[in-house]
Amino acid sequence: MKNLKLAAREARSRTVVNAGGVEIGRGFVIMAGPCAVESEEQTVQAARAVKAAGADILRGGAFKPRTSPYAFQGLGMAGLKILATAAAETGLPVITEVLDPRDVEWVAEYADVLQIGTRNMQNFSLLKEVGRARKPVMLKRGMYATLEEWLNCAEYILGEGNPDVILCERGIRSFEPYTRNTLDLSAVPALAELTHLPVIVDPTHATGRVSLIAPMSRGALAVGAHGLMVEVHPNPSEALCDAKQALTIDKFNSLMGELRSLQAFMAEQKSEAEVAG
Ligand code: PEP
Ligand code: MN
Repeated sequence: MKNLKLAAREARSRTVVNAGGVEIGRGFVIMAGPCAVESEEQTVQAARAVKAAGADILRGGAFKPRTSPYAFQGLGMAGLKILATAAAETGLPVITEVLDPRDVEWVAEYADVLQIGTRNMQNFSLLKEVGRARKPVMLKRGMYATLEEWLNCAEYILGEGNPDVILCERGIRSFEPYTRNTLDLSAVPALAELTHLPVIVDPTHATGRVSLIAPMSRGALAVGAHGLMVEVHPNPSEALCDAKQALTIDKFNSLMGELRSLQAFMAEQKSEAEVAG
């Protein structure tokens, strides 16, 4: 692929990112939690539940990039403090979005992974700023971005000296309104050919529908993703953001069970294939 130097597959061996003690790029990592941090009670309850179900990393937005300026924009600094409390209670590392280059330095003090959202994928000054941060960065795919454009954005971060970049496929805009976006699962094996960076799938923002999250999560595991990012809320009908796509704690528990069975099945197939030689 043109112009790729640091992100290209041949530039180095496969990247494994250390996210607050959790390895991303080896095995299958689960990032889960609410869309937005709304209160200490809601976030700590979600964090405890996802941890008990087997999640590895807590997600939660303190700065929300909302389509409408009148919608809930997140709790900001107070939200980061709540995430720190939830992290301390559960021992889970935290991933949270940063929207503004001016906030990167202090958001990085609270985050184990800095998230760049779809709307900011090509915000080059933000990319350079997180490239100078000493925390891993998860770069979500722009909703209109090609793989080449996306990888060039990763290149901006790597070029500033930050080697810890994770990619996240979160669906792209198509003509289909039934799903919120169209999950491009083919991006996962395609990126394995093009880059050494780990790839996470976000079936929540990709589908916008609770009923589609489990099947697309199983698909992500089957095509070789390095993990998932899933929204979970203790009481989805009261969520201040993305209420229609949040899993209840019960549904998240069943999803984790399904993924464990599929993982066991895949491991069995692999060992049978090895025996068969
Ligand atoms: C999010 O993960 O909180 C989010 C806003 O996702 P996206 O940038 O993919 O829309
Ligand atoms: Mn959301």
